[in-house]
Amino acid sequence: MNLNKMVANYLRQTEELFGDELYLDSKLESTSKSENPGDELEKFHQEIKDCQKCSLGATRNKFVFGVGDPNANLMLVGEAPGAEEDRLGEPFVGRAGKLLDKILAAISRSRNKDVYICNVLKCRPPNNRDPLAQEVVECEPYLLKQIRIMQPKLLVALGRVAGKTLLKLEAPLKDMRGKLHDYYGTPLIVTYHPAALLRNAGLKPAAWEDFKWIRSILDN
Ligand code: SF4
Repeated sequence: MNLNKMVANYLRQTEELFGDELYLDSKLESTSKSENPGDELEKFHQEIKDCQKCSLGATRNKFVFGVGDPNANLMLVGEAPGAEEDRLGEPFVGRAGKLLDKILAAISRSRNKDVYICNVLKCRPPNNRDPLAQEVVECEPYLLKQIRIMQPKLLVALGRVAGKTLLKLEAPLKDMRGKLHDYYGTPLIVTYHPAALLRNAGLKPAAWEDFKWIRSILDN
């Protein structure tokens, strides 16, 4: 699919979800915050849980919408569900999820308190391959709507693939880390995927520096 067609598809998708709001102002924070984000998120979940907009709808076991505190000011975003997430319908479970829970506890948060966790894609790509461009075009508007409902103070992309998918750039993780990016008006930080920290414990000190920075942003 060529770039023009992908952009046209993306605009069609966002128009379906938001009307013409995004064309008028690309900053999601400019819209008023939902009075009851929990109810609104659940309503949206029910609306899209049977989505078949891309081919991953046919191969998923469970649709993985997201989990956590709908009033959280921190939203963590991964690239897509893995095998365990696909089996259980929850993002970041298994060993990597447990490590993430420990990291969150170290900044006095948990997946039920002041954190919301989701992915760019809501369905698992076969064999954990990276999301395809067309899948992102179809699914990213769902993430945008989750952000619009919650209006978190900070987004954190977990891993290189999540970072490059959200920022639309081809770059190594080291070039994306340590910077405050912008994602449609919401500040975005990119840090390591917890699975990378399991593979290479030597990365943990740098990840901890990132999460201390994340905590300082949230506390100010
Ligand atoms: S990955 Fe997203 S767009 Fe594709 S079927 Fe699942 S929910 Fe729909």
